[in-house]
Amino acid sequence: MKKIITILPVFLAVFSSKGQSFIQAYQDRANLVTQTNITSNLQQFSNLGIKTTGTLNNANALTWIKNKYISYGYSASQIVEDPFTFGNTSSKNLVITKTGTVYPNKYVIICGHFDSIYGPGVNDNGSGTSIILEAARILRNVPTEYSIKFIHFSGEEQGLEGSKHYVNNVAYQNGVRVLDIKLVFNLDQVGGVMGNNNNTVYCDQDQAGPTSNNAASAAVTQQLRNCTALYSPLQTAVDPAEDTDYIPFERKGEVITGFFERIRSGYPHSSDDTFANTDPVYIYKIGKATVGALQHFAVATSASSIVLGTKEESSPTHSLESVSIYPNPSKDTVNIELSDTGIKDFSFEITELSGKVLLKKDNETKVSISALPAGAYIGLIKADGQTAVRKILIEK
Ligand SMILES: [Zn+2]
Repeated sequence: MKKIITILPVFLAVFSSKGQSFIQAYQDRANLVTQTNITSNLQQFSNLGIKTTGTLNNANALTWIKNKYISYGYSASQIVEDPFTFGNTSSKNLVITKTGTVYPNKYVIICGHFDSIYGPGVNDNGSGTSIILEAARILRNVPTEYSIKFIHFSGEEQGLEGSKHYVNNVAYQNGVRVLDIKLVFNLDQVGGVMGNNNNTVYCDQDQAGPTSNNAASAAVTQQLRNCTALYSPLQTAVDPAEDTDYIPFERKGEVITGFFERIRSGYPHSSDDTFANTDPVYIYKIGKATVGALQHFAVATSASSIVLGTKEESSPTHSLESVSIYPNPSKDTVNIELSDTGIKDFSFEITELSGKVLLKKDNETKVSISALPAGAYIGLIKADGQTAVRKILIEK
């Protein structure tokens, strides 16, 4: 409850004119994004190798994504492959449809490419892929007024070939718009670089021609910023939309927005675009913002699925928002500062990025880490049914 009380006074004033306010059920679902799922998705994506459009690895990546949807409970009829050819190259997009309750024929598209070039593409664009998968997993059984299409494009690195094909042959046929699109929300290169202070995400705004859709794009980009502030710990900045899969939609006059990393990595399109060179905690945070925003765009039910008997869990008495672990990077000892002095019982874990637990302590604010080798780890502080996630760097 404390969380609502502290957030509402700040945001209600800002959002009242837009009718956009904090919805607890959206936050509860955003909180279902897990660092473990994001990390394992990224590592599995990495293990699929260089996914150049048209190669066996590229086809294997599509199958891997498809199997994820099946494991989440999506039915075969919801999953459609969209084959395309350019030059001598053939590949497929993957399109998953979840039907809306009020506007079944109007679609919110959330998309990102899965092809890579010269490297495994963990940032570009395993990051967006892993987040779209988490959003699809969490929202499968959540009623939304608008239909959602989760689209995984291929051929992006060759010049947006997959998204161009989809727009010109599926969404539009013989130049006629046959798919009623509410908006397109694209995620590309949201991985950051480990070690940077990744506390801000770019929200992409259409600032190019045709200009007929620019005002609507600016409006949804503002809504994306609002949702990021409401449902994630990240700050936002605006950059011009360019060079990724929303562009073919934009050219047709559709309404678009997207996420892109704020501190740009130099690793994409190289063999160094690896798991070790991304910041999985940043991706996790963008995942929470994405699940919040997608619910807003598709108008998910605001009815909480949490039953009254477990109200304590959804409305914790104490807040872990301001927990800090210092110094960071650390050498021999880390200190845990809870800020909220009402918290008496807490646990502290250090895990590998894969989620493997290396160390666990209860109610200790000074913890020795001298046994751990140098590297990047995840620190989890759990109290009162909440979990705070922090990145920990150890230097020797
Ligand atoms: Zn990309």
